[in-house]
Amino acid sequence: MKNSKECISCGKKNLDKNTIGINKKLLGEDIKNYYCIDCLASYLGCDVEDIYAKIEEFKSEGCKLFV
Ligand SMILES: [Zn+2]
Repeated sequence: MKNSKECISCGKKNLDKNTIGINKKLLGEDIKNYYCIDCLASYLGCDVEDIYAKIEEFKSEGCKLFV
């Protein structure tokens, strides 16, 4: 599938919309490579919980990148 994104680091497939959204928020709108939540956390040197907290934060701001 054309829209299916996979993690550049571990190859995890079918990253969901929130994962794609947080990648864009933290790494930039025009990025080509995406990380799953686990790899994004280790890439940024933070905890998975921090990533989920960020997602919730953006969601509560009504960001369209998140569901
Ligand atoms: Zn990964």
